[in-house]
Amino acid sequence: MGTGKSHIFAGKVRCLDCKSTMQKTTNNAKKSYLRCKLYCILKGNLCSKHTIRLDRLEEIVSLRIKEHFKLLNEKEISDELEDTMFKVDVKNLEKELAKVNDEIKTRDTVLKNIYIDKIKGTITEEQFMALNKEFIGEKIV
Ligand SMILES: [Zn+2]
Repeated sequence: MGTGKSHIFAGKVRCLDCKSTMQKTTNNAKKSYLRCKLYCILKGNLCSKHTIRLDRLEEIVSLRIKEHFKLLNEKEISDELEDTMFKVDVKNLEKELAKVNDEIKTRDTVLKNIYIDKIKGTITEEQFMALNKEFIGEKIV
């Protein structure tokens, strides 16, 4: 007979034959079963007294849940996340960084050349001052 207490599958497990919900029953060996409610209430021939052991059902359900999560492969999920957002951002940032580094290198080269030109005497003092001011100013900004 049912204990009156609802089980974790209450309202979720249905009898395959009559589609009525399954009621918890406990046998003499203190094992819990789920049994067709229609049979429990009316007995007779309305439905058969097929049962499923509650611990077995819990086992099966937890196994299924675990399988389901196994199917959601962890690596796949992380890869997908990386592909969709992380990787794209990192790639863009790397590109930006490379661009900035190139620019710094170019400016350093230009600045070096200005100094070399000054030393060589190929540019005038005024030109040097103007270029120097321009490039150093830009570099700081
Ligand atoms: Zn039934």
